[in-house]
Amino acid sequence: SILQSNPAEALEFTEAYRSRILGTLAGSLMLLAVLSFYYMKSRIRGSYRASVILASISILMFIPLLSKAAVTPKLAAWDLHEVAYVDRLTTSLLRYRGQMIAWNKERARWQNRGDVASGLDLKITDKKKLAPLVVVIIGESTTRNHFGLYGYSRNTTPRLDKMRDDLLVFEDVITPTAHTIPAVMGALCSEQLKAGEINCNAATMIDIARGAGYKVTWISNQTQIGFDDSSIVHLGKSADKAIFVNQDVSSAGEADRNVSLDAKVLQPLKNIVNQVEDTGEMNMVFIHLMGAHFTYEKRYPEEMEIFRDSKELELAEDIKDPKAGSIINHYDNAIAYQDQLLADIFETVQKTPVEALSLYFSDHGEEVFANQNFHGHSDDNLTAAMSEVPFILAVSDSYRKTHGKRLDVLQGFREH
Ligand SMILES: [Zn+2]
Repeated sequence: SILQSNPAEALEFTEAYRSRILGTLAGSLMLLAVLSFYYMKSRIRGSYRASVILASISILMFIPLLSKAAVTPKLAAWDLHEVAYVDRLTTSLLRYRGQMIAWNKERARWQNRGDVASGLDLKITDKKKLAPLVVVIIGESTTRNHFGLYGYSRNTTPRLDKMRDDLLVFEDVITPTAHTIPAVMGALCSEQLKAGEINCNAATMIDIARGAGYKVTWISNQTQIGFDDSSIVHLGKSADKAIFVNQDVSSAGEADRNVSLDAKVLQPLKNIVNQVEDTGEMNMVFIHLMGAHFTYEKRYPEEMEIFRDSKELELAEDIKDPKAGSIINHYDNAIAYQDQLLADIFETVQKTPVEALSLYFSDHGEEVFANQNFHGHSDDNLTAAMSEVPFILAVSDSYRKTHGKRLDVLQGFREH
């Protein structure tokens, strides 16, 4: 899928499709010619009613496309290709079959893991010392180098900046891989995974949290079924409750023009916070965001288009891509949108009267024309911007009061 590949590949993908669109057009014209031929033939024979109906239907089908073609011929050609290209259907069916096989295999693996948490011999010394609300936010394709909070030249994170004194902002956190699945699995598996490995056979953070008495909820704005995404989906489903808020976008949002904005995670989170406040029940929530994943302009609403002018950007000399400036603008707007969402979540956690903490980090960063004439992420081409991720902790006032010493210790780790 495009989500799992890098933009260069995505471009090749589009290039490859250009000839397919032309092929589709030629194919449709040929089909029309054949239909006309049979129409003529049936006329001579005098039994042409069926042909007339068939020809009328095919012409009717093209009418909306014709009016669209007058305005945007490229889009109309694309739609025609989507409707008419037969191999797309075949490929989709084959892919679907392959995916279902992989999916079932992965499901069986998760079901047969056994009681992994019991092997850990978890001992809770004092349950009262555990905060009843813990929120772990996993970002996507977000490098800290584009956060104003971390010193980026543009003020992309005004709200986090304002709350800076109440946050623990870790300055030096890196991720070992630039790919989502090994990054997320590696972060949440209790056993150290080898580079690129995605199968966590030991207890996950979800298992451990449950072992400690938390009710665990997984809220995700990433797709529930996407190519190769099944490990993270099964990880999420191993929670007591999994909420997939992204119901609109197919295959990680790149296969069509729809968007699923990250703010959708807020309401389900707020419901859980209310529940903790009302009942005191211990809850741990994992939130998996779409973050700033390519395509960047799909990651924020129109009103968040703050950065439009690329003249103020100082690009390195070897950045030759003419679109670099506008791509950076889109990325920065996506970060500014994340700033609002993170601030909303942190404020919710800070304001609650119960002891609560929230941790945010990104699975990996993103190269956006910082050191290379390239944007995207890939282990084959790892850059600093892909490894350097934000890592920020927010706590409620009551947590700060009770666990001040613990926070002082963490403060000491901020720059190491
Ligand atoms: Zn990722």
